[in-house]
Amino acid sequence: EAKRNGRNRYELFRVEMDEAARKRRDIELDLRDAITGKQLRLYYQPITDSDHNDITGYEALMRWNHPVNGLIMPMDFIPIAEETGLIHSIGAFALYEACQEAASWVGEQTIAVNLSPVQFKNSALISFIETALEESGLAPHRLEVEVTESVLLENNHSNVSTLEKIKALGVRIALDDFGTGYSSLSYLRSFPFDKIKIDKSFINDMHESREALAIIRAITGMSRSMDIQITAEGVETGEQFRRLKEEGCSLFQGYFFGRPQPSETRLMGFSPIDPSGQPT
Ligand code: C2E
Ligand code: MG
Ligand code: MG
Ligand code: MG
Repeated sequence: EAKRNGRNRYELFRVEMDEAARKRRDIELDLRDAITGKQLRLYYQPITDSDHNDITGYEALMRWNHPVNGLIMPMDFIPIAEETGLIHSIGAFALYEACQEAASWVGEQTIAVNLSPVQFKNSALISFIETALEESGLAPHRLEVEVTESVLLENNHSNVSTLEKIKALGVRIALDDFGTGYSSLSYLRSFPFDKIKIDKSFINDMHESREALAIIRAITGMSRSMDIQITAEGVETGEQFRRLKEEGCSLFQGYFFGRPQPSETRLMGFSPIDPSGQPT
């Protein structure tokens, strides 16, 4: 009986594995079409500056509008794009598209683009960034790239030198999801980041967990002495917002301020827009 159960469980496991493998392969095949078929889009989420009470910039977040399966979120295709190398063309698309979009804005807001650690393996990354800036005419200081600690983890030297080259273009560099990785603080010595984004898990826990709050405090305290900007990610409530302000945060991103939006509706809910889509 036990043996049969075991076997059944194995069969079930195998069927599920096949299923997962098939789904993955489908996504991989479809992802190739997505790039050429213009199914990938960037959504823009506002970053609010509470000192000046305005939007200082937006983060570009990728969405895949699949012809059959509908909207697919990054966590369901970015890892596959990374494993297959498709991230290089997807990432170049994000850079071009985001720079074009920001260059068309009336204001001087910044645009943040996520870079996968895999993109650092491509020696053409710097020229992708240069071309995106040149073709759009976007001032380099309005582009911000977001990287995670994993960029500094492996192959440290060459990635740090790539970051230095990006910085030399005048582009700003943010450390994303800060606090979730490894021995976080030491990474701040290996590269002079312009900004740290406190991971949303700390914001989510700050009212229940003294540890989360202590970490937020440590990060904000440190940023003051190091002249690094801080953004709190994933701010969903007014209570979190007020508390973070008390802790010295002044840049905020999260559903409380606005969800990621396609460019047509980017300004809705923040400022009145006229039918031409221009801010009034
Ligand atoms: P991320 O860079 O940390 O982006 C922030 C994520 O938090 C986004 O998820 C955003 O929609 C979500 N978020 C924002 N505010 C809130 C909030 O108040 N509550 C909650 N629960 N979530 C919030 P999204 O768009 O699903 O993207 C997930 C991750 O996928 C991103 O995390 C980034 O690592 C990656 N990603 C997205 N677009 C790109 C891209 O163009 N290139 C690369 N390489 N990675 C990307
Ligand atoms: Mg990000
Ligand atoms: Mg993040
Ligand atoms: Mg993330």
